[in-house]
Amino acid sequence: MSIRVHALAKNLGLSSKDLLAKLKKLNVKVKGHMSSLDDETAQIIREELKSKPKSKPKAKPKPKVDKPASVKKPDEKKPDEKELKELQIKIPLTVKELAVKMSLKPTDLIKTLMKMKIMATINQSLDEETVKKVGEEFGFNLGRLPTLEEEFLERHKEKDTSGKLVARAPVVTFMGHVDHGKTSLLDLIRKTKVAAREAGGITQHIGASEVEVDGKRITFLDTPGHEAFTAMRARGANATDIVVLVVAANDGVMPQTIEAIDHARAADVPIVVAINKCDLPNINIARVKAQLSQHDLVAEDMGGKTITVNVSAKTGQGIDDLLEMILLEGEMLELKANPNRPARGIVVESKLSRGMGPTATILIQNGSLKVGDVLICGDYYARVKSMLNDHREQIKEAHPSNALEISGLTGVPEAGDAFYVVEDEKKAREFSLQRLEEKRLKGAVAITHISLEDLYSQVKEGKIKELNIIVKADVQGSLQALIESLQKLSSKEIAIKVIHSGVGNVNVSDIVLAAASNAVVIGFHVGTESRAQAAAEKEKVDIRLYNIIYEVTADIKSALEGMLEPHIKEVFLGRAQVRQIFKVSKIGNVAGCMVLAGKMVLHAPCRVVRSNEEIFRGKISSLKKFKENVKEMNAGSECGIAVANFKTIRVADIIECFEIEKVARRL
Ligand code: GDP
Repeated sequence: MSIRVHALAKNLGLSSKDLLAKLKKLNVKVKGHMSSLDDETAQIIREELKSKPKSKPKAKPKPKVDKPASVKKPDEKKPDEKELKELQIKIPLTVKELAVKMSLKPTDLIKTLMKMKIMATINQSLDEETVKKVGEEFGFNLGRLPTLEEEFLERHKEKDTSGKLVARAPVVTFMGHVDHGKTSLLDLIRKTKVAAREAGGITQHIGASEVEVDGKRITFLDTPGHEAFTAMRARGANATDIVVLVVAANDGVMPQTIEAIDHARAADVPIVVAINKCDLPNINIARVKAQLSQHDLVAEDMGGKTITVNVSAKTGQGIDDLLEMILLEGEMLELKANPNRPARGIVVESKLSRGMGPTATILIQNGSLKVGDVLICGDYYARVKSMLNDHREQIKEAHPSNALEISGLTGVPEAGDAFYVVEDEKKAREFSLQRLEEKRLKGAVAITHISLEDLYSQVKEGKIKELNIIVKADVQGSLQALIESLQKLSSKEIAIKVIHSGVGNVNVSDIVLAAASNAVVIGFHVGTESRAQAAAEKEKVDIRLYNIIYEVTADIKSALEGMLEPHIKEVFLGRAQVRQIFKVSKIGNVAGCMVLAGKMVLHAPCRVVRSNEEIFRGKISSLKKFKENVKEMNAGSECGIAVANFKTIRVADIIECFEIEKVARRL
């Protein structure tokens, strides 16, 4: 439903011209009095115009910087339980703009910001969090109006289901344990099903491929494993319709098989199982199926619903069946799209290539793309100069579920970024700049995922109803015990859900899954792999390591009650790798190191990691640049490091230093 501007003006007892002026002030973009406004916008405008006279009894001929009576001074008592005044604004906005919106003097706003320890100048942009906080100080509940881009995208997406929908090809990803044959299967399918169209020779991959079986198409994404799959999902992109879980018949279900199952499930993507290497002697397929059923993948011949196909990438056995089953699963999903609309989809891969500039492999999820179209792609945009299909042939037009490589981008987008076609380059540039500006602002406020500290407040605010947990333990027995005691902690307010569990150290895959599913990682008698540590720091995933089951449950209980004691947190500073060992009189062994990330800091606490395991914890007692003592060394530089009381340092050891931070409990 919508209403035209002139009708709304009549409703409100205003002239169209007056309403248009007011709309402009409210940042609602309309062309003229015949433009229509959607219901929600109209409602906001009604409320906005209604609330004005209340707060400003005497019209508003005065300059807007005057403070109306109803606006609270920040020094006054807290707005107690008094209702906050609703106000919709576009974000980011400058201090000046915000002052105008709240009818304040900019200096008053700056003073209050200073009290909140935010130093801002009048023309500085503010991010959403700051705006909300400072708004409350003045008695406002500030809501964010959708950005022009968001509004545009909303309209774009509405077209997804309008128009004539046609069936589209399923998009498939192979996942499974390393060496179980994902690459071999994909290569074989590509070779046997695609070769007919090729002029011969090896095709260079674009990160995705399409095959045709009995006139029906399937698009395969070459994601190397479930980490990439979930990393894309963490960015909000679910490209895959069906996961083919590859399990080698001779090996059976392995740790990464379970990871893959959990990743696919967390993404709500159906699984077709390919039992591979069926050409090998002495294999026991029934055993593999029994193992799978322990993970709720019960094969059809065992009375379950999971499609399983016995295949061999070596002999080609079962490949046709597998493709047929993928198509069947695809049909059941009733995948549809509207080719007669501008394209949108996601980035599968991207790179900066010599001569071509930034290029990206994109998957069209809806609509059609033509050469010459302008599209926004992540933070960048392009007028599409050339499009290559998966055989690197130039094409002029592409349709839903097609994967293709495009060039002409203004920068390199990230895998998982969304793209969509806009009407012209001007709009693309505008959105792109706006995004880059927002990113710059957000840079200061990093993304965070759930942590036990802020669990309580999030539950109270109704933000979460489920606590997702990933559990890693040293042995299967304690894993089971831990999961059971965790599940008992579920309450009416919050359900505890173990989305993945496994034996072994916390690894990157755990962090990626935690980031995508907003989960906390709990390790029991295990450590964290260094790559995982780095990923957790980047993604702000809460990892908690324990040695006593009771402590795990006690911590979660306290977190649920908002009574968690402050905990000591290690904040990563830097990582260096030992390249050489020197003997230095007085100091002893000094490790000649390369700083790999961050910075190494003299006297900082540190740990020594060997083969992904922490073997020592201490302090950096000496830091040298050649012979000179220094306080810090940055990434990329070579330095000498001595770790106090640690004599057995070896080449290839990793030294990580960190800061200790006490995290207060937040209520
Ligand atoms: P990925 O790590 O899952 O991608 O596994 P690869 O495709 O790289 O395969 C790992 C190894 O298993 C390679 O040496 C392959 O040649 C071998 N392999 C893959 N599929 C089969 C199969 O069906 N039968 C046999 N005998 N070997 C296979």
